[in-house]
Amino acid sequence: MECPGEPVRPIGYQAYATQYLTGMIAEHRDAAARITCGEDPAAVWTSDRSEVPWMHEISRRVHVSGLQHADAAVKNWFASLTGARKGRKVGAPRFRKKASSRDSFTIPSPEAMGPRASYHRTLDERNGPISDYRHLRLAGLGTLRTHDTTKRLVRALDRGAALRSFTVSRSGTRWYVSLLTAEHAPEPQPTRAQRAAGVVGVDVGVKVQAALSTGELVDNVRPGARATKRITRIQRAIARCERGSRRQQALYRRLAAAQHLVALQRSTAQHALTKRLATGFEHVAIEDLNVAGMSSSARGTLEQPGRNVRQKAGLNRAILDVGFAEIRRQLDYKTSWYGSRLHVIDRYLPSSKTCHACGTVKIKLSLRERVFECECGWREDRDVNAAKNIAAFAVPDLAVTGHLAAGRAERRNGRGDRVAGPPLEVVSDTVDDASRPLRREGPPVGSNLGLFPHSARTG
Ligand SMILES: [Zn+2]
Repeated sequence: MECPGEPVRPIGYQAYATQYLTGMIAEHRDAAARITCGEDPAAVWTSDRSEVPWMHEISRRVHVSGLQHADAAVKNWFASLTGARKGRKVGAPRFRKKASSRDSFTIPSPEAMGPRASYHRTLDERNGPISDYRHLRLAGLGTLRTHDTTKRLVRALDRGAALRSFTVSRSGTRWYVSLLTAEHAPEPQPTRAQRAAGVVGVDVGVKVQAALSTGELVDNVRPGARATKRITRIQRAIARCERGSRRQQALYRRLAAAQHLVALQRSTAQHALTKRLATGFEHVAIEDLNVAGMSSSARGTLEQPGRNVRQKAGLNRAILDVGFAEIRRQLDYKTSWYGSRLHVIDRYLPSSKTCHACGTVKIKLSLRERVFECECGWREDRDVNAAKNIAAFAVPDLAVTGHLAAGRAERRNGRGDRVAGPPLEVVSDTVDDASRPLRREGPPVGSNLGLFPHSARTG
């Protein structure tokens, strides 16, 4: 579609709509309707363009956001190739596969959305301005009732935040809408309570979700044997069904709902932990990925070799990877929201094997030893000892950078590298993951408001 030699220019929504979309829409709708009525697609759709006739059954803004995402992906890829973009290499954009990707779409800069929207006011009461905290009006979708309150979103908008886009996605059997807002916010400062609490070391593990240097052990949320049993029962029932039958499809939906519930419980526990750490302390210290701890768990000894060593190691890795990476990611952005700082200590520092009292490093510490005991008389829970060491390892770091203006947490790009950017708001028009870390966003206003699909009204 692009002439060779002509430079690729980003195209605005208006220009794209008038140049490309408007002319096609009638043709596409006509073709789609005729195919739906049973006419031969090959006879109806004689055009040799790569588009399909039903592409305009969806909102035209979805096309625009798809193009913006593709544009950003290609730009990031080139920037990564030329070295202009730091961090891990960005690969070439890939096509999204319908079956293996999350169902979602983003609508950029809509004119009509939000909890106070009152566009197209008609005699119909439902199209009037929204005055409660339970409804949203989204461009192209109408008025929907939300499961969560929109109060924080309303307040942010009252403070002058601007809505940038909204993304609708499906997870399990639930629909979510997430609204991206941008506002000028002052650099967050740690509160007096945060300053008083000082530094906390966190040891993320498998046995407990986290051990804190305060001595607290945060229990792992195990969604429980009941959920596992329920899921196994549904899976068995699916296996007994006729493949592709209505009954099997219904069971697949039930399975998705059950698994989504478990995922929600896990994620709630992670968010609760990271928010408590980011708001309760001025400095949060964590360890880099615990590679050694993960691979040595099932090996056993020569006399008593462990069983299923490889599987166990892989499982441990999966457990740790997910939990650890996610907790670190959340701490990264939450500390920058709440005026605290995140410190990541070197993964090769012996945080588990060091005695916190005298500094002796043990040569060997078996995973079965749940209590750390030292010749100097120090006795402490193994994970708490490690968390205290992590906090202590971060202290020299504090001596250098310690009383910098809080809230100047380093900003990272989507590939995890530091970004030298102005601390205040950088607003770009593209809505993509890569541009987010640069933008000064407020705390999570109105994000992930769960929608009740069955009670959703379209106005
Ligand atoms: Zn000791």
